[in-house]
Order: sequence, then C-alpha cells, then structure tokens
Amino acid sequence: MRYQSTRPKRQFLAGVSCPNCQTMDAVVQVQVFEPEPDEYIECTQCGHIERRPDPDDINEKNNLANDAMTTGTTGTVKFLK
Ligand SMILES: [Zn+2]
Repeated sequence: MRYQSTRPKRQFLAGVSCPNCQTMDAVVQVQVFEPEPDEYIECTQCGHIERRPDPDDINEKNNLANDAMTTGTTGTVKFLK
C-alpha cells in the first residue's frame, strides 16, 4: 500500500542550530499529515525533537519552564483554576 501524499516530509534547515546539542545544519523540519497535520523540527545529530516555535507554543513553553523552575527550587506547584 502506498500513501505517498501523506508521508512525512523532511527538509533540512540551513543555518539553524539544534536547541539541544547546538549542532549547526543538522536540524530538519518534519511535516506529517497523519493522523493529523503537524510540524516539528528534529535534530539528526542527537534526535532532539521540538515543536515549531510559534508564539503560542513559546508562551506555553515559558510557562512550563517557569513551573519547572518553581517546582525545582521551592517544591510548590500552582494550579490556576
Ligand atoms: Zn541536536
């Protein structure tokens, strides 16, 4: 069976360094179409995977980072509900 149109697309990102291992030109942008359209970057050196940094994701990530730091230093976790 062939699903050529839904195969993940991989494209090297020139001039981009991996956020994890800092290797230059080792990061590919991966586009998947199944089960639902998605896009992320993957480092071919260390295998690090990261979502594309659009503004919402960055905000979310910052919040997570802050939560992690808070948890690590004080042991307090805040749930806003
Ligand atoms: Zn890497």
